[in-house]
Amino acid sequence: MHSVLVLGGTAEARELAAALDDEPAIRVVSTLAGRVVKPRLPAGEVRIGGFGGPDGLATYLQDQQIGAVIDATHPFAARMSASAQIACRRAGVPLLRVERPPFARTAGDDWRRVATLEEAARLIPATGRRVFLTTGRQGLAAFAAVDDAFFLVRCVDPPQPPLPRDHELLLSRGPFTLEQELQLIDRHRLDVLVTKDSGGEHTQAKIDAARTRKLPVIVVARPPRSATPAVASVGEALAWLRRHGAG
Ligand code: NAP
Repeated sequence: MHSVLVLGGTAEARELAAALDDEPAIRVVSTLAGRVVKPRLPAGEVRIGGFGGPDGLATYLQDQQIGAVIDATHPFAARMSASAQIACRRAGVPLLRVERPPFARTAGDDWRRVATLEEAARLIPATGRRVFLTTGRQGLAAFAAVDDAFFLVRCVDPPQPPLPRDHELLLSRGPFTLEQELQLIDRHRLDVLVTKDSGGEHTQAKIDAARTRKLPVIVVARPPRSATPAVASVGEALAWLRRHGAG
Protein backbone atom coordinates (compact mmCIF):
# COMPACT_ATOMS: atom_id res chain seq x y z
CA MET A 1 0.00 0.00 0.00
CA HIS A 2 1.46 3.35 -1.07
CA SER A 3 0.59 6.27 1.20
CA VAL A 4 0.21 9.73 -0.35
CA LEU A 5 -0.12 12.88 1.74
CA VAL A 6 -2.06 15.74 0.13
CA LEU A 7 -1.61 19.14 1.77
CA GLY A 8 -5.00 20.60 1.04
CA GLY A 9 -7.53 23.35 1.52
CA THR A 10 -8.22 23.85 -2.19
CA ALA A 11 -10.51 22.47 -4.90
CA GLU A 12 -7.48 20.89 -6.59
CA ALA A 13 -6.58 19.04 -3.39
CA ARG A 14 -10.13 17.65 -3.12
CA GLU A 15 -10.07 16.59 -6.78
CA LEU A 16 -6.76 14.84 -6.26
CA ALA A 17 -7.92 13.08 -3.10
CA ALA A 18 -11.06 11.86 -4.88
CA ALA A 19 -9.01 10.41 -7.75
CA LEU A 20 -6.51 8.72 -5.40
CA ASP A 21 -9.22 7.39 -3.10
CA ASP A 22 -10.58 5.41 -6.07
CA GLU A 23 -7.25 3.54 -6.36
CA PRO A 24 -7.34 0.38 -4.21
CA ALA A 25 -3.54 0.24 -3.81
CA ILE A 26 -3.28 3.79 -2.46
CA ARG A 27 -3.95 5.23 0.95
CA VAL A 28 -4.57 8.96 0.64
CA VAL A 29 -4.40 11.28 3.64
CA SER A 30 -5.46 14.91 3.16
CA THR A 31 -4.54 17.58 5.66
CA LEU A 32 -6.31 20.84 6.43
CA ALA A 33 -5.10 23.73 8.57
CA GLY A 34 -8.37 23.78 10.52
CA ARG A 35 -9.14 27.46 9.91
CA VAL A 36 -12.60 26.99 8.35
CA VAL A 37 -15.40 26.03 10.74
CA LYS A 38 -17.18 23.67 8.34
CA PRO A 39 -14.61 22.71 5.71
CA ARG A 40 -15.48 20.82 2.53
CA LEU A 41 -13.97 17.47 3.39
CA PRO A 42 -11.96 15.55 0.81
CA ALA A 43 -12.42 11.82 0.11
CA GLY A 44 -10.22 9.40 2.05
CA GLU A 45 -8.54 10.01 5.40
CA VAL A 46 -8.44 13.59 6.67
CA ARG A 47 -6.11 15.08 9.25
CA ILE A 48 -6.96 18.51 10.62
CA GLY A 49 -4.46 20.93 12.16
CA GLY A 50 -0.84 21.99 11.70
CA PHE A 51 2.14 19.70 12.26
CA GLY A 52 4.15 22.07 14.44
CA GLY A 53 6.53 23.19 11.67
CA PRO A 54 8.93 21.20 9.48
CA ASP A 55 10.18 18.98 12.33
CA GLY A 56 6.66 17.86 13.18
CA LEU A 57 5.84 17.20 9.53
CA ALA A 58 9.08 15.24 8.96
CA THR A 59 8.26 13.04 11.97
CA TYR A 60 4.70 12.54 10.69
CA LEU A 61 6.00 11.48 7.25
CA GLN A 62 8.23 8.87 8.81
CA ASP A 63 5.69 7.61 11.36
CA GLN A 64 2.99 7.25 8.70
CA GLN A 65 5.40 5.83 6.08
CA ILE A 66 4.31 8.41 3.55
CA GLY A 67 5.70 7.61 0.07
CA ALA A 68 4.98 10.95 -1.63
CA VAL A 69 3.66 14.39 -0.73
CA ILE A 70 1.56 16.63 -2.95
CA ASP A 71 1.46 20.25 -1.83
CA ALA A 72 -1.89 21.37 -3.21
CA THR A 73 -2.32 24.27 -0.80
CA HIS A 74 -3.52 27.69 -1.91
CA PRO A 75 -1.03 29.93 -3.80
CA PHE A 76 -0.96 32.26 -0.74
CA ALA A 77 -0.26 29.49 1.83
CA ALA A 78 3.50 30.03 1.57
CA ARG A 79 4.44 28.95 5.10
CA MET A 80 2.95 25.50 4.66
CA SER A 81 4.77 25.07 1.35
CA ALA A 82 8.09 26.15 2.85
CA SER A 83 7.60 23.75 5.73
CA ALA A 84 6.80 20.88 3.33
CA GLN A 85 9.97 21.54 1.35
CA ILE A 86 12.18 21.31 4.42
CA ALA A 87 10.36 18.30 5.90
CA CYS A 88 10.34 16.29 2.66
CA ARG A 89 14.04 16.92 2.06
CA ARG A 90 14.80 15.84 5.61
CA ALA A 91 12.62 12.71 5.44
CA GLY A 92 13.72 11.81 1.88
CA VAL A 93 10.14 11.87 0.57
CA PRO A 94 9.43 13.14 -2.98
CA LEU A 95 7.39 16.37 -3.08
CA LEU A 96 5.38 17.92 -5.88
CA ARG A 97 3.52 21.23 -5.83
CA VAL A 98 0.22 21.66 -7.68
CA GLU A 99 -0.33 25.33 -8.37
CA ARG A 100 -3.05 26.72 -10.58
CA PRO A 101 -1.96 29.46 -13.01
CA PRO A 102 -2.53 33.08 -11.92
CA PHE A 103 -5.45 35.09 -13.35
CA ALA A 104 -4.89 35.98 -17.00
CA ARG A 105 -5.19 39.65 -17.88
CA THR A 106 -7.24 40.20 -21.03
CA ALA A 107 -8.31 43.15 -23.16
CA GLY A 108 -10.57 45.47 -21.17
CA ASP A 109 -9.03 44.63 -17.78
CA ASP A 110 -7.93 47.62 -15.69
CA TRP A 111 -5.54 46.11 -13.15
CA ARG A 112 -3.27 47.67 -10.52
CA ARG A 113 -0.79 45.04 -9.34
CA VAL A 114 0.49 45.35 -5.77
CA ALA A 115 2.79 43.22 -3.63
CA THR A 116 0.88 43.26 -0.34
CA LEU A 117 -2.53 43.85 1.22
CA GLU A 118 -1.13 47.04 2.83
CA GLU A 119 -0.19 48.36 -0.60
CA ALA A 120 -3.69 47.52 -1.84
CA ALA A 121 -5.19 49.51 1.06
CA ARG A 122 -3.04 52.52 0.18
CA LEU A 123 -4.59 52.63 -3.32
CA ILE A 124 -8.04 53.21 -1.76
CA PRO A 125 -9.85 55.63 -2.04
CA ALA A 126 -7.88 57.03 -5.02
CA THR A 127 -8.97 53.97 -7.05
CA GLY A 128 -12.50 53.60 -5.71
CA ARG A 129 -14.75 54.39 -2.74
CA ARG A 130 -17.07 51.35 -2.75
CA VAL A 131 -14.78 48.38 -2.44
CA PHE A 132 -15.50 44.71 -3.17
CA LEU A 133 -12.95 43.13 -0.83
CA THR A 134 -12.45 39.44 -1.66
CA THR A 135 -9.01 38.70 -0.21
CA GLY A 136 -10.34 36.34 2.48
CA ARG A 137 -10.63 36.45 6.23
CA GLN A 138 -6.95 36.81 7.06
CA GLY A 139 -5.10 40.11 6.83
CA LEU A 140 -8.17 42.39 6.79
CA ALA A 141 -6.53 44.58 9.43
CA ALA A 142 -4.55 46.09 6.54
CA PHE A 143 -7.77 47.89 5.48
CA ALA A 144 -8.97 48.88 8.95
CA ALA A 145 -7.56 52.41 8.83
CA VAL A 146 -9.20 53.26 5.48
CA ASP A 147 -11.97 55.57 6.69
CA ASP A 148 -13.21 57.19 3.51
CA ALA A 149 -14.52 54.13 1.67
CA PHE A 150 -17.26 51.49 2.02
CA PHE A 151 -16.17 47.83 1.98
CA LEU A 152 -18.25 44.81 1.05
CA VAL A 153 -16.13 42.15 2.77
CA ARG A 154 -16.77 38.65 1.44
CA CYS A 155 -15.34 35.61 3.21
CA VAL A 156 -16.32 32.09 4.30
CA ASP A 157 -16.13 32.52 8.09
CA PRO A 158 -16.43 35.69 10.21
CA PRO A 159 -13.14 37.62 10.32
CA GLN A 160 -11.45 38.88 13.47
CA PRO A 161 -11.40 42.64 14.08
CA PRO A 162 -10.09 45.19 13.27
CA LEU A 163 -12.16 45.79 10.15
CA PRO A 164 -12.82 49.02 8.23
CA ARG A 165 -15.32 51.28 10.00
CA ASP A 166 -17.79 51.37 7.08
CA HIS A 167 -18.24 47.77 5.99
CA GLU A 168 -20.81 45.07 5.34
CA LEU A 169 -19.91 41.45 5.86
CA LEU A 170 -21.03 38.85 3.33
CA LEU A 171 -20.38 35.32 4.61
CA SER A 172 -20.45 33.15 1.54
CA ARG A 173 -18.48 30.36 -0.09
CA GLY A 174 -17.88 30.18 -3.85
CA PRO A 175 -17.74 29.32 -6.60
CA PHE A 176 -19.87 32.22 -7.83
CA THR A 177 -21.35 32.76 -11.27
CA LEU A 178 -20.79 35.85 -13.40
CA GLU A 179 -24.46 36.72 -12.93
CA GLN A 180 -24.13 36.56 -9.12
CA GLU A 181 -21.01 38.75 -9.16
CA LEU A 182 -22.66 41.33 -11.43
CA GLN A 183 -25.70 41.46 -9.15
CA LEU A 184 -23.48 42.13 -6.12
CA ILE A 185 -21.58 44.89 -7.90
CA ASP A 186 -24.83 46.54 -9.00
CA ARG A 187 -26.73 46.12 -5.71
CA HIS A 188 -23.91 47.63 -3.62
CA ARG A 189 -22.79 50.13 -6.32
CA LEU A 190 -19.25 48.80 -5.99
CA ASP A 191 -16.58 50.66 -7.95
CA VAL A 192 -13.36 48.72 -7.28
CA LEU A 193 -12.49 45.04 -6.76
CA VAL A 194 -9.63 43.92 -4.51
CA THR A 195 -8.47 40.33 -5.00
CA LYS A 196 -5.49 38.11 -4.41
CA ASP A 197 -3.99 36.66 -7.59
CA SER A 198 -5.40 33.28 -6.61
CA GLY A 199 -6.21 32.24 -10.16
CA GLY A 200 -8.38 29.30 -11.13
CA GLU A 201 -11.80 28.84 -12.67
CA HIS A 202 -13.56 28.85 -9.30
CA THR A 203 -12.80 32.53 -8.68
CA GLN A 204 -12.63 33.82 -12.26
CA ALA A 205 -16.18 35.20 -12.30
CA LYS A 206 -15.34 38.27 -10.16
CA ILE A 207 -12.57 39.23 -12.60
CA ASP A 208 -14.97 38.85 -15.53
CA ALA A 209 -17.65 40.85 -13.68
CA ALA A 210 -15.20 43.69 -12.96
CA ARG A 211 -14.25 43.82 -16.65
CA THR A 212 -17.94 43.82 -17.67
CA ARG A 213 -18.73 46.75 -15.35
CA LYS A 214 -15.41 48.52 -16.18
CA LEU A 215 -14.23 48.41 -12.56
CA PRO A 216 -10.54 48.76 -11.72
CA VAL A 217 -9.09 45.70 -10.00
CA ILE A 218 -6.36 45.82 -7.36
CA VAL A 219 -4.53 42.49 -7.71
CA VAL A 220 -2.32 41.35 -4.82
CA ALA A 221 0.62 39.33 -6.17
CA ARG A 222 1.38 35.82 -4.92
CA PRO A 223 4.01 35.56 -2.20
CA PRO A 224 7.48 34.55 -3.38
CA ARG A 225 8.39 30.85 -3.05
CA SER A 226 11.55 28.87 -3.34
CA ALA A 227 11.72 26.45 -6.24
CA THR A 228 9.89 23.12 -5.91
CA PRO A 229 9.00 20.82 -8.79
CA ALA A 230 5.53 22.03 -9.73
CA VAL A 231 2.67 21.27 -12.10
CA ALA A 232 -0.45 23.27 -12.93
CA SER A 233 -3.10 20.56 -12.92
CA VAL A 234 -4.40 17.56 -11.02
CA GLY A 235 -3.92 15.36 -14.11
CA GLU A 236 -0.20 16.16 -14.19
CA ALA A 237 0.07 15.44 -10.47
CA LEU A 238 -1.52 12.00 -10.97
CA ALA A 239 0.96 11.27 -13.79
CA TRP A 240 3.84 12.31 -11.48
CA LEU A 241 2.53 10.00 -8.76
CA ARG A 242 2.39 7.08 -11.21
CA ARG A 243 6.04 7.70 -12.05
CA HIS A 244 6.75 7.58 -8.30
CA GLY A 245 5.01 4.25 -7.86
CA ALA A 246 1.51 5.39 -6.97
CA GLY A 247 -1.70 5.85 -8.93
P1 NAP B 1 0.07 29.24 5.82
O1 NAP B 1 0.17 30.63 6.31
O2 NAP B 1 1.00 28.81 4.75
O3 NAP B 1 0.19 28.18 7.00
C1 NAP B 1 0.36 28.53 8.35
C2 NAP B 1 0.42 27.25 9.13
O4 NAP B 1 -0.86 26.58 9.13
C3 NAP B 1 1.38 26.23 8.55
O5 NAP B 1 2.71 26.51 8.96
C4 NAP B 1 0.83 24.94 9.11
O6 NAP B 1 1.12 24.80 10.50
C5 NAP B 1 -0.66 25.16 9.02
N1 NAP B 1 -1.22 24.71 7.74
C6 NAP B 1 -1.44 25.43 6.62
N2 NAP B 1 -1.99 24.68 5.66
C7 NAP B 1 -2.11 23.44 6.18
C8 NAP B 1 -2.60 22.22 5.66
N3 NAP B 1 -3.12 22.12 4.43
N4 NAP B 1 -2.54 21.12 6.48
C9 NAP B 1 -2.05 21.20 7.74
N5 NAP B 1 -1.57 22.35 8.28
C10 NAP B 1 -1.61 23.44 7.51
O7 NAP B 1 -1.42 28.92 5.31
P2 NAP B 1 -2.72 29.86 5.25
O8 NAP B 1 -2.52 30.89 4.21
O9 NAP B 1 -3.10 30.24 6.64
O10 NAP B 1 -3.78 28.81 4.70
C11 NAP B 1 -4.32 27.81 5.54
C12 NAP B 1 -5.09 26.81 4.70
O11 NAP B 1 -6.14 27.47 4.00
C13 NAP B 1 -4.26 26.08 3.67
O12 NAP B 1 -4.63 24.73 3.71
C14 NAP B 1 -4.64 26.71 2.35
O13 NAP B 1 -4.58 25.78 1.28
C15 NAP B 1 -6.07 27.17 2.63
N6 NAP B 1 -6.44 28.41 1.92
C16 NAP B 1 -5.69 29.54 2.07
C17 NAP B 1 -6.05 30.69 1.38
C18 NAP B 1 -5.24 31.95 1.52
O14 NAP B 1 -5.61 32.96 0.89
N7 NAP B 1 -4.15 31.98 2.27
C19 NAP B 1 -7.18 30.67 0.55
C20 NAP B 1 -7.92 29.50 0.40
C21 NAP B 1 -7.54 28.37 1.09
P3 NAP B 1 2.38 23.98 11.05
O15 NAP B 1 3.57 24.82 10.77
O16 NAP B 1 2.04 23.82 12.49
O17 NAP B 1 2.42 22.66 10.31
